[in-house]
Amino acid sequence: MAPQQKSVGHITNLLSWPAARGPWCRGTISPVKILIVEDEPKTGDYLLQGLVEAGFVVDLVRDGSTGLHQALTENYDLAILDVMLPGLDGWSVLRGMRKAGKDLPVLFLTARDHVDDRVKGLELGADDYLVKPFAFSELLARVRTLLRRGAKVSAAEFLRAADLELDLLRRRVTRAGKRIDLTAKEFALLELLLRRQGEVLPRSLIASQVWDMNFDSDTNVIEVAMRRLRVKLDDNFEPKLIRTVRGMGYVLENPDCV
Ligand code: CA
Repeated sequence: MAPQQKSVGHITNLLSWPAARGPWCRGTISPVKILIVEDEPKTGDYLLQGLVEAGFVVDLVRDGSTGLHQALTENYDLAILDVMLPGLDGWSVLRGMRKAGKDLPVLFLTARDHVDDRVKGLELGADDYLVKPFAFSELLARVRTLLRRGAKVSAAEFLRAADLELDLLRRRVTRAGKRIDLTAKEFALLELLLRRQGEVLPRSLIASQVWDMNFDSDTNVIEVAMRRLRVKLDDNFEPKLIRTVRGMGYVLENPDCV
C-alpha cells in the first residue's frame, strides 16, 4: 500500500483533498460509531459537532422511539442518551436495547440534582452518566473511557505520524522512540492535530476542542501552547511536522502522506 502520488506544494491542495487520502494517513483507522439521542436542539447539535470533530462517526436522533429503532438496527460502539425524551424516555430506550441483547456502552445525560436518575440509570445497565450542563472535554473523556472498556479499543489506541507516536491509553508521546513529556493541554492539542492530520485547523476550532472556549482574538493561549509543543516535538527532530499557515491556523503534516 503506497501513499498516493500527489504533488502538494500549496496549502490549497491540502485543503481540497484530505478526504481523498487513504486511511493509512489518518490517525485512526477504523471509525467508531456513536448514537446520540437528545431532543434539546442546542445540546444535540453541540454534541454532534464536537464528536464529529473528534473523529467519530455520529448519528443524532431527537426522540426515544427513533433512538431505540436506530440502536437496534445499526451497530454502534456507544450510545449517549438523554433521560427526558419525547416518545420513549431514555430509560425505556436503554431497557429495549438491553432486552434485545445490545450491550454497547451507554452514557446517560441527566439533569442537575436528579440523583435518583443516576441511580436508576446505573441499575438499568447504563455505564456512566454526566450531569448537564457539562464541558465537552469532560464528555469526550468519558466517551473514550467507555470505548476503552468495550471491545473497540485497539484501533484507537495509538495515533501516529512519521516517527511520532501518541499512546492514548498510557497518555504517552514518543518521537523516534524518545519519550516526550507534555502537559495535559499540549497532549490534547497534539491529539487533535494527529486526528486531523493534513488538515489546516483554524484557531477557533482548536479553541473549542482543546480549551472548551469560544475563540477570543485577544488571547494568545493557543499560540503559546503551540510554540511549546513545537519546541518539544520538532526542534530536535526531522522532518518538522507542525506548520503554521498564516492567517488560517495550524496543520500537522505526515510526510508519508503528502
Ligand atoms: Ca430532554
